Amino acid sequence: MNNQDSKAHVVIVGGGFAGLACARKLAKSDDVRVTLIDKHNYHQFQPLLYQLATAELSTPDVATSLRYSVRNHPNIDVKMQEVTAVNPETRTVTTREGESYQGDFLVLAVGSQANFFGTAGAKENAFPLYSLEEAQRLRSRILAVFEDADRDPKLVEQGALNFVVVGGGATGTEIAGSLADLIKLTMPTEYGDLAVNYARVYLVDHGEALLAPFPVKAHDYAAQALQRKGVQLLMGVGVKEVAPDRVLLSDGSSILTRTAVWAGGLMAAPLAADTGLPQGHGGRIEVWPDLTVKGFPGVYALGDFANIPGPDSEVLPQLGSVAQQGGEWAAKNILAEIAGETPTPFRYHDKGIMAMIGRDAAVAAVGKKRHELDGPIAFAAWLGVHALLMSGVRERVEAFIDWAWNYFGKSRPIQVLDRSDEGRIDWGEGAEGESVSDAPHVTTVH
Ligand SMILES: Cc1cc2nc3c(=O)[nH]c(=O)nc-3n(C[C@H](O)[C@H](O)[C@H](O)COP(=O)(O)OP(=O)(O)OC[C@H]3O[C@@H](n4cnc5c(N)ncnc54)[C@H](O)[C@@H]3O)c2cc1C
Repeated sequence: MNNQDSKAHVVIVGGGFAGLACARKLAKSDDVRVTLIDKHNYHQFQPLLYQLATAELSTPDVATSLRYSVRNHPNIDVKMQEVTAVNPETRTVTTREGESYQGDFLVLAVGSQANFFGTAGAKENAFPLYSLEEAQRLRSRILAVFEDADRDPKLVEQGALNFVVVGGGATGTEIAGSLADLIKLTMPTEYGDLAVNYARVYLVDHGEALLAPFPVKAHDYAAQALQRKGVQLLMGVGVKEVAPDRVLLSDGSSILTRTAVWAGGLMAAPLAADTGLPQGHGGRIEVWPDLTVKGFPGVYALGDFANIPGPDSEVLPQLGSVAQQGGEWAAKNILAEIAGETPTPFRYHDKGIMAMIGRDAAVAAVGKKRHELDGPIAFAAWLGVHALLMSGVRERVEAFIDWAWNYFGKSRPIQVLDRSDEGRIDWGEGAEGESVSDAPHVTTVH
């Protein structure tokens, strides 16, 4: 038996906040070797995806090579493969590429995907924002509609410059604010020939308040901040269908658009259905307080992929800090198990919830008593907490330089139309029967 074989083998699937934090902590022990499997070769920083989508940040600001991230840990072996099946009894995973990996411990941390709640056409036509590829695809669509409308201004009448954000949670509020800034501050100088004043951002939510998990004061603050930026809030209205050229609403009206951003909810990544593990709300894996999967000792599920019990028997929210701290805690418990000790229940240190609303507004609710912050103090809190989540010093410095560039200037030099949205838009013959008097807008279609 060589030295490697004498070490406990931990297989980690997913190199996001949870998986990477777990791998790095385990790697400090000489008793462990880690195989870290991810379908991508990078670690993505989801909280900044909306800034990638709106050309505020570039791809290297929001993603780092996984191999680079663990380069100082020789006992972590990175494999770029997609896991398609899990045998929790033997703690073995099988990949699309046909390999199998068996561990003494198995850690599942594959994150979330968009939940379309069965909304007709949403999967085919909307732009979700939960991965790097999705953010690039959305950026490409946003830039493409501006380019097309600049070439053929009649397309504005077909809703080319209408942007519909579905969902008024943190992701929806943040992308709506950033889109509104792009339209108001950047595009008018860059598209001198185009009537950019016809561009509209709509935010649709079937609830009555934005940022529902935040204190009431934050709901109003966010609504006012978005309205100041020109965002039209359609609250208490559901989305019935996302068609290729419009979004149909539950009140019978529709909005012509080629850019419907889906920020309407999350569910566990598709692998959850192929694990044979117990699933709960949102399809997420049910775990005990020590983060092991119910009925499967030695198998851990973390981050967005798991329903993690918190205090007051509520499950913890899908947040980067929950995932990162959970990853470190799982590593601690695995090392305890290797040492013949009992794993302990995860204690989450709550850093608060935060959202940025464009370049000059932010809200935060911090501490157990949920102290409310808004404006520049919330903005500073957001920067501080998110800098801690970033995996390396280089990423922090680069992201902060790009932020500062954008904050003090109004240009967004990273507007690279790379056609990630799968090619040119088919504008067809144009929509019939729509009113186009003042702006391309909400149009009743009885
Ligand atoms: C737009 C947006 C904004 C957000 N803003 C904030 C914020 O401001 N603050 C905050 O705290 N949280 C925020 N979050 C939530 C936070 O990003 C997530 O809670 C966190 O990323 C979850 O970490 P994770 O490790 O569980 O999953 P992820 O970070 O999603 O990582 C999952 C990894 O698994 C890999 N993977 C998936 N399937 C497979 C497979 N079958 N085989 C191999 N690999 C696979 C993926 O490639 C990925 O690398 C935001 C999320 C989004 C989408």
